[in-house]
Amino acid sequence: MSDVRHRCEYCRRQVNQHKRADAVYCSPTCAARARDDRRRFARRLRNLRPCPTCGWVFAFRRSDAVYCSARCRVAAHRARHSNME
Ligand SMILES: [Zn+2]
Ligand SMILES: [Zn+2]
Repeated sequence: MSDVRHRCEYCRRQVNQHKRADAVYCSPTCAARARDDRRRFARRLRNLRPCPTCGWVFAFRRSDAVYCSARCRVAAHRARHSNME
């Protein structure tokens, strides 16, 4: 076994040895926190999409929101209206 020092992937604390060779966290607490962070990040990415009017990519707070702002919603409405005429 090598005594190469590892760092916990979450808290970056140096650990002398991991209980398991494939462990990357210093403790179950760090492993759970890292998992929570990943889940939160994935959730944020899921809500990330472009506004159909201005193309700005941003995180929607409401899952049913379509436009980034009221201005874009109105602009899209106007564009739709003028296309019909
Ligand atoms: Zn840690
Ligand atoms: Zn927009």
